[in-house]
Amino acid sequence: MPAGKPATPLCDQFGFDAGWREAQLDLIGLQPFSRDQVRLLHERILGTDSATAIIDRFYQQVMQHGQAAELLSSFDIGHLRERQIQFLTGFGRWFKDVEYFESRATLGVTHARVGVPLSLYVAAVGLLQSLILEAVLERMDVREERRLLTELVVKLASLDIALATEVYHRARIDDMGRSLKKLEHQQQHLRQQLEQDALTATSSRTSLLRGLETAIGRAAKTGQPLVVVMADLDHFKVINDQHGHLAGDRVLKDVAARIKAALREFDLVGRYGGEEFVILLENTSLHTAHQVAERIRRRIGTEPVQLGSATVEVTISQGLAIYRQGDDVPSLLKRADQAMYRAKAAGRDCVVED
Ligand code: GH3
Ligand code: MG
Ligand code: MG
Repeated sequence: MPAGKPATPLCDQFGFDAGWREAQLDLIGLQPFSRDQVRLLHERILGTDSATAIIDRFYQQVMQHGQAAELLSSFDIGHLRERQIQFLTGFGRWFKDVEYFESRATLGVTHARVGVPLSLYVAAVGLLQSLILEAVLERMDVREERRLLTELVVKLASLDIALATEVYHRARIDDMGRSLKKLEHQQQHLRQQLEQDALTATSSRTSLLRGLETAIGRAAKTGQPLVVVMADLDHFKVINDQHGHLAGDRVLKDVAARIKAALREFDLVGRYGGEEFVILLENTSLHTAHQVAERIRRRIGTEPVQLGSATVEVTISQGLAIYRQGDDVPSLLKRADQAMYRAKAAGRDCVVED
């Protein structure tokens, strides 16, 4: 923050800039009041002793009101009383300054945050106003001064109420906005959980099947070739048995990353089962798909997965099926699966077409 600029976060946040503040003061009719009149109010009516007396009377009255008394019972009254004496000894002082607006806005936000109903807050300001007015009428002998101070007190209380109301609603809206953001985050997280496989960060089975359905629809409509690859790790059970399931998990992650690295950005790869992946190659001929599958096979088979000091040799068997008119999700997957089983039967670590 630049030197000399007061810290007024609420005024900044709510847009209470100089123009807005000026308009507010004009609306309430506070503009003509000078600092002398505010000083007179404090000298004659709101000195520390009489402010304390006013606050004591305020509490006597408030405590007779059921809802207010109940609400106050959960607060430290001594502390609240001190704050209210401060509130009165600052009442109207430098009301044209941004800091005054900030302090009043802070009060409104605080009341909103602790759950004081706005109606109760406004009623409390009204009660304070009438207690101050009583003191004005009692103590000011000069008629003109009495009139001026009465008007000033009513207008200052109006400013407090106007500001409190404004920030009260805005604080509520901000809180709701924050809750909404949080919900959106949670929703996004849930959606991601639903759409992505947690271990391998490939598409989940649900989103894979949805993607396949869409791709089939597109292929049927456009006539462009669509190839489905069923890829299954070879003898994965042995890897688990020899190195443990955690090591097996790390192999799965590594293999998924290698598959992704061998694909184009828009190709979809998803975890179909435990150590089975399905790859959708849209707008791809069987010949090209075969090359892609070979690339995947080499990326996995030629370089062992490093697990700490252990190296694990991994190979993958793949079956390819190209979309035929009339295929649906199960029929296309079934043919890819059958091709994959033929790859297993042929000795594994190879690519077989349907
Ligand atoms: P094949 O070459 O015939 O496919 O042999 P395989 O051992 O890979 O096949 P099989 O279906 O008998 O075993 C698959 C193994 O994959 C069994 C299962 O414990 C393991 N597996 C499935 N999901 C996970 C997983 O999320 N993590 C780990 N570590 N292992 C898994
Ligand atoms: Mg399997
Ligand atoms: Mg397997």
